[in-house]
Order: sequence, then structure tokens, then C-alpha cells
Amino acid sequence: MIPAGPGGRRRADAPGHVPDTGDMTVPPTTPPSDPRPSPAPDPLRDPWIAPMRRALDEAGRAPGTGDVPVGAVVLSADGTVLGTGHNEREATGDPTAHAEVLALREAAKAVGEWRLTGCTLLVTLEPCTMCAGAIVLSRVDRVVYGARDAKAGAAGSLWDVIRDRRLNHRPEVITGVLEADCAALLTDFFRAR
Ligand SMILES: [Zn+2]
Repeated sequence: MIPAGPGGRRRADAPGHVPDTGDMTVPPTTPPSDPRPSPAPDPLRDPWIAPMRRALDEAGRAPGTGDVPVGAVVLSADGTVLGTGHNEREATGDPTAHAEVLALREAAKAVGEWRLTGCTLLVTLEPCTMCAGAIVLSRVDRVVYGARDAKAGAAGSLWDVIRDRRLNHRPEVITGVLEADCAALLTDFFRAR
């Protein structure tokens, strides 16, 4: 037999090297999981960063009418923007004029029917109970949101309407995409008031 095993690996014993390099497969002390500003790739969230920026742009239009900056985008399965919306409660005097509802309505109009199967809704702030209900009824495949809403969120924070097991349609929920940017927009808005 050829001594391939340990002998082969010992070739690279350059002078000055630490003798025991057998543990080189262990990565040099990287923090295990840092959910916030980690440059490490995040296969779950990274694909949604670009469309979330679009939702942020929408949100940025709301304060012009004194509305809380929340923006939403509905994407088709192939990534086409079917609908967009920003909070227009103050602008229209309509208590249901939340970003998600407006974006869903626009998307349904674009598709030509109420079923938005295969679509993804992105929103800068965790949906409220009304919007969570509308999202479930629209049959979108997925909801992606930025900032959590600890006081009124219905997608995991205060309630979880979207993933309620008693419902027969439960979209996938992805949280925390551009969370800091989405939250900062709201913080700045309320601070300025
Ligand atoms: Zn809402």
C-alpha cells in the first residue's frame, strides 16, 4: 500500500509554521449568527432586498400628505411589479387605505382577478390585522416585511393571522428585510412630528 494518508499531508511543513494545523477546517472564530448588519450572504432575505427598496421608495411618498410612511409592492412569480401602494389614510380619509390593501387592489386589477396566487407582497412594516386578513384572502404565496410592529403587528408580533393554522391558505412569511431602513423611516417621521 502507498502511504497516502498522514504522510501526504505533512509535506507542507514550512519552517516557522505552527506544527499542529490539523484543525484548519475550523473557521477562525466567526460570530455564529448576527442577524443585523452582517455582510454575510442571507439566501432567505437577499433576493428581496431590491424589491424592498422599491417598497421603501413608495413609503417615502406618504409623508407628503401627512401619512405614516409605509409602502408595499406586489410582485408576480417572475418578479414583475403588479401593484404598489403607500399609506393614504390621511390623503383620502379612508381608514382602510393601508399600503398593502392599495397594492393588492392594484395588483388584482393588473392580473384581472382577485386571486394573486404565485405573487409576493412586500411591505416595509409588519401588516396589521386588516392587512393580514386581506393578504390571506388574496392568496398570495408570500409576505415579506421589513420592520416589526410590536404594538399592532399581525404577522408574528402581536398576532399571527397570516400563519394561523385554522386558515386553509397560509402564505410564507419572511421578516426583517432591510429592517433597519424600514424602521428608520418611521422613527424619523414620528420624531419630526
Ligand atoms: Zn394595515
